[in-house]
Amino acid sequence: MDINSIKSSILIVDDEPYNLKILNELLRSDYSTRVATNGERALEIAMSDNPPDLILLDVMMPGIDGYEVCRRLKSVANTQDIPVIFITAKTDEQDEVRGFEAGAVDYVTKPFRPIVVQARVRTHIDLRIKTQLLKNQSLRDGLTGIANRRRFNDYLETMWSCGIRDPSPLSLIILDIDHFKLYNDKYGHQEGDSCLIRVADCLEASVRRKIDIVARYGGEEFGCILPKTDLEGACQVAQKFQNEILSLEIPHIDSSTNGYVSVSQGVATLVPTRKSSSDELLRMADQALYKAKESGRNRFCTY
Ligand code: GH3
Ligand code: MG
Ligand code: MG
Repeated sequence: MDINSIKSSILIVDDEPYNLKILNELLRSDYSTRVATNGERALEIAMSDNPPDLILLDVMMPGIDGYEVCRRLKSVANTQDIPVIFITAKTDEQDEVRGFEAGAVDYVTKPFRPIVVQARVRTHIDLRIKTQLLKNQSLRDGLTGIANRRRFNDYLETMWSCGIRDPSPLSLIILDIDHFKLYNDKYGHQEGDSCLIRVADCLEASVRRKIDIVARYGGEEFGCILPKTDLEGACQVAQKFQNEILSLEIPHIDSSTNGYVSVSQGVATLVPTRKSSSDELLRMADQALYKAKESGRNRFCTY
């Protein structure tokens, strides 16, 4: 999706309908705008499945005031990166200090000049788009476009912690392409790269749940994290990977295993505890992978 083709979305919060109307008219041709007339409603929209990219927030409102709305947004992981600009009649230095302390990125005073509001909004929207782009790139593998090892490690840590709080099995699959050195030798490094891309796409298309991730773990190794999945479930996924990769029918005539590109996999499951760590799970999956290689490749083994 081209991110330039979708309008960024802005939530405008003010208890005064007249202010809402003016701000909305000012911004709605360039952005997709939503409005809220109180803090409770603003928080509801911000924490929904479709959060805004930026919030213009009035300070003085009955009920939860702007400072409190901002503090709450900043205290929750899902909303803390949404930039907040205060729009307020309060012009004391003390008030501005309070606003920034609450986590605002900017401050516009009433009565506002339209051009100032537009410029500040544009600046912070541009900044947000660039920040998100960078963050996204830093977690993706350059060749295949799937998650990279850094993302894999972060996610494994996160899911390990979740599994401690809410005990459930966490499964891991480590996959390694069989005889890939021979593939490169036979078909060339560029064909090797294309093969890695096809395998990555295939693996990613094979997992269905949103919470499962597939990452490029290293050269021709991939990792798949399956939260809330027991060993039996993980073996089903491994079987699917096995079948789907083979059915790509990527020729590999020098492979003694099979005429086509195949993978070996190690599968391991643990219920996370404080006494153990995700390294243990990785070690188990690695050992199972070794077993799969030793016992003939093009298969998965469990720990
Ligand atoms: P095994 O079946 O035991 O896994 O044998 P293998 O040849 O796959 O394993 P080995 O670890 O000996 O070789 C891995 C090869 O993967 C070596 C390297 O050239 C290739 N490789 C690693 N990263 C890339 C890459 O980004 N592009 C390409 N084309 N090849 C890569
Ligand atoms: Mg390898
Ligand atoms: Mg290999």
